[in-house]
Amino acid sequence: MTRPTGSELMEKIVALCKRRGFVFPASEIYGGINGFWDYGPLGTQLKNNLRDAWWRDMVECPPLGPDGHPVSIVGLDSSIIQNPRTWEASGHVGGFSDPMVDCRESKARYRADHLLVLRPRSEETDLFAFLEGDPGPALKQAKKVLRRAVSEEDFVAEPFTGLDPSERGRVWGPDASSAGTLTEPRQFNLMFRTFVGAASGEDNVAYLRPETAQGIFLNYKNVLDTSRVRPPFGIAQIGKAFRNEVTPRNYIFRSREFEQMEMEWFCAPQEAQQWFEFWTEARLAWWRSLGVQEGNLQLRRHDADELAHYARDGAGTYDVEYRYPFTDPGFGELEGIAHRSSFDLEQHQQASRTKLEYFDPQTQERFVPHVIEPASGLTRGVLVILCEAYDVDPSRPSPEIMRFPKRLAPIQVGIFPLINKLGMPETAEKLYLELRSRFVVQFDVKQSIGKRYARMDEAGTPFCVTVDGDTAEDQAVTVRDRDTGGQERVALDRVASYLSERFATA
Ligand code: ATP
Repeated sequence: MTRPTGSELMEKIVALCKRRGFVFPASEIYGGINGFWDYGPLGTQLKNNLRDAWWRDMVECPPLGPDGHPVSIVGLDSSIIQNPRTWEASGHVGGFSDPMVDCRESKARYRADHLLVLRPRSEETDLFAFLEGDPGPALKQAKKVLRRAVSEEDFVAEPFTGLDPSERGRVWGPDASSAGTLTEPRQFNLMFRTFVGAASGEDNVAYLRPETAQGIFLNYKNVLDTSRVRPPFGIAQIGKAFRNEVTPRNYIFRSREFEQMEMEWFCAPQEAQQWFEFWTEARLAWWRSLGVQEGNLQLRRHDADELAHYARDGAGTYDVEYRYPFTDPGFGELEGIAHRSSFDLEQHQQASRTKLEYFDPQTQERFVPHVIEPASGLTRGVLVILCEAYDVDPSRPSPEIMRFPKRLAPIQVGIFPLINKLGMPETAEKLYLELRSRFVVQFDVKQSIGKRYARMDEAGTPFCVTVDGDTAEDQAVTVRDRDTGGQERVALDRVASYLSERFATA
């Protein structure tokens, strides 16, 4: 067994994550709910570790600025539900929408810009729609309709939105039993609506936030008035965001409830371009520092026609992209770094009639700060870490290993007695109690030692410590390295410092 690629790799990762308790489909016992996921014991720990690494490296210990001096970034935790006027001013009520296509027959709904059609190279005029990256069902349908064996080479793939309207009647929807059931593309707002209080009238409508950023803009003045920060400075927030995605897919890549890690960097207008470049490079470097392979990451600048409404006045947006198994050999978004100009603060200033200007006492200048926003998905980041970590070592009896960077591993150390007698469990438990205040440690006494190592390899545990028959005599244990499988004898009273050294150089 070698490390697979593409959809086979994705299947292996999804299966391992389910089997080992990283990620479960939400409400699984009721048949699940599309676009929602639950994080199990290992997944929660992994997600928390990635979250903490971001917070540490963005808020507590951010990179040095272009002048070599520390930059200042403070934290925030704002409400998921805000006054709905927030989302009118931010442009989300009017503009946060995707084009969608409905199937009148199956009632399924598709993102129009994710929908492609297969056009036969032959004279036949039927067209077969499919979701980007998944032409299989369309080929099956084509075979049935055209009544002959077909392969992908018999067709040209084209975007659905590029079709002449007169051709739409000849399109077979991905799960329709006749042609012409797909509607024209219509705009669909992605915000989840809810009602605040006991009454359910339109006056009480509120929205679940589709991004954490707006909570930061609403508190920009509060933070400025109550802490010692002055532009240039940043406010960072990590939390849930909700988008009623038309076609949630690709596992946790595009879900309807997810977590974001966002930082809004407020600076003088004339410095914005410099900070835009600085944060773009800094964010790419951060993902690399987590061990994401150079060749699997790239920066891509948005074309003018794909810029979000808030980024149109600024100097643009860069995406940090990752080569996901389902985009391979192409890339998909991991993080966006947007130059938002003063769009958001101006909008809120106007709509709330609250002055959001900054007066610089040194230069005597008054300005509404410009904003640079590195916005990444925490849950999408977890997917990247899972994809990067998954490996196969055919020389091991259980070949699947998660090679998490030591900083992110959900369990840091496994501790085992070789067998459950001759004082070994007692010594192992004593060591476990000593180490658990310093590391995330798991004590495991069940099954053979080989099976326990294999379980730890799948969980991505960097080190396993085994108390064996010699321990009582030589006062030493065996430490096994996950990546090499190599073992080293370490004195019992040196285990803690040995591990500390290994984790410090992670
Ligand atoms: P996309 O083009 O993929 O829909 P976006 O450009 O709308 O994403 P942003 O608004 O820039 O995304 O959000 C910032 C980050 O939040 C994204 O880079 C991504 O990591 C994460 N994110 C956005 N939407 C989702 C989602 N539906 N599920 C998981 N993560 C998401």
